[in-house]
Order: sequence, then C-alpha cells, then structure tokens
Amino acid sequence: MIDIVINKLNRELPATVRLVAVSKFHPFEAIEKAYSAGQRIFAESRPQELLAKVKRLEELRLERGEPDYMSDIQWHFIGHLQTNKLKMVLPFVSLVQSVDSLRLLDAINNWGKANGKRVNVLLEPHVAAEDTKQGFSAEEIYSILRNSSEYPHVSFCGIMGMATFTDDETVIRADFSAIRAIYDECLSQFPSLSAYFKELSIGMSDDYHIALEYGTTMVRIGSMIFGVRSY
Ligand SMILES: *Cc1c(COP(=O)(O)O)cnc(C)c1O
Repeated sequence: MIDIVINKLNRELPATVRLVAVSKFHPFEAIEKAYSAGQRIFAESRPQELLAKVKRLEELRLERGEPDYMSDIQWHFIGHLQTNKLKMVLPFVSLVQSVDSLRLLDAINNWGKANGKRVNVLLEPHVAAEDTKQGFSAEEIYSILRNSSEYPHVSFCGIMGMATFTDDETVIRADFSAIRAIYDECLSQFPSLSAYFKELSIGMSDDYHIALEYGTTMVRIGSMIFGVRSY
C-alpha cells in the first residue's frame, strides 16, 4: 500500500513540489517500505522518536554489513522543539521546519556556532484559529529576517504553516492565503535572502490539494501514506 500511495503522489505532484513523508508514530519498517518506493525525505515530530529511528538505521547498517544502506535519506523535524533537545535533533536533520519562537531560533544559532554548522530552518507563523502560544506573528517574522545577520549559523529557507484543524474549506483557504501572503512579503522585503528562502511548506494529507493552489513547494503527508497513527 505504501508504495502505491507514494507512486500516486509522485504522479500527481508537480515537479516543483517535494513530498515529505511524515513517519511519526510509525515503525522503521514503514520508512523502509517508503524508501524502497523511492521516497527520500521523512519527517518526525518528536526528538526521542527521531533519534530512535536514526539509531535503528545505524544498527541495520551494521547488521547488514552495508554502511551505505539508505545513506541518502533526509530527515526533517516538524514538531515543537524544546531548546534542551537540540542535540538530539540538529546533528541528524537537513531542515527544521518548525521554528516557532525567538528562544528556539537563538538556541539553534548558538548550537550552530558551537558545532561549526549552519542549520536550515523554516519559520512557522501562527495563523490557525487554535489557541496556542507557538508560532510567530507576521511582524515577528519580518523583524527576524530584517536582522538575519544576527543569526550567522542559521539559513532561513522559507515558511512552514498549518491551517486550522477543520473541514471548512473556506477557513483552510483563508489560512493558506495568509501564510502565502507572509511568504510573498518576505521575498519582496528581503530579496537578498532569495538564494535560500525558497520553501513554502503547506499542505498535509487532508488539505494538500488546496495547498497546491496556494503555491506550496513542500507537502507534509503522513496518514495518507502510512495509515492512521495510533498515539
Ligand atoms: C503530523 C503532521 C503532519 C502530517 O499530517 P497528516 O494529516 O497525517 O498528513 C504534517 N505536518 C505536521 C506539522 C505534523 O505534525
């Protein structure tokens, strides 16, 4: 099943849109199946689980005597990241999609400095109706990018957003439109960032069709590929 859905999505998505397979709460064997079907980018939302899967892959390489087994897999982090968990996540991911506070951004920059690395991030605005303290206002995002030289160990690669959890397509469209507007404003205010700032990560299993209309470059799809999650 996993391979069938991945093939279907690959046929359906335009070449400009990358498929991120959200493997959270699914076992490593599910990731291997998706990898066999050609999927390379996987996303996790909990540091402990990401680390366990990274370790599992290392074990498998030893067991199989194939040090290069799945060596071109890429991990993205898409969950809330506490600053005391950075070392469980940042060494292993190619992109942190869910940077949602200044405190986290500062900590990532400091980690990059201490480890001689530059960390790729997306900034997450808060637009959905759910009441949460996570996520930036549009103004905060512009302010960060205006002062991007204060974060020499961070590459700002774009925006990640989530629509309100609802069946009401009007609400989802309004949210995607608001996220897209922030993305466009960033590009027009800060053209010098455009070498890196390219990603608009919107769209999940239930709303990726709509996200395509709003110019998504990265869809994050979990349950459609791997089935329902048992939490
Ligand atoms: C879980 C999750 C997804 C995937 O959701 P599905 O509805 O299973 O496709 C996408 N983005 C984020 C940030 C998530 O936490």
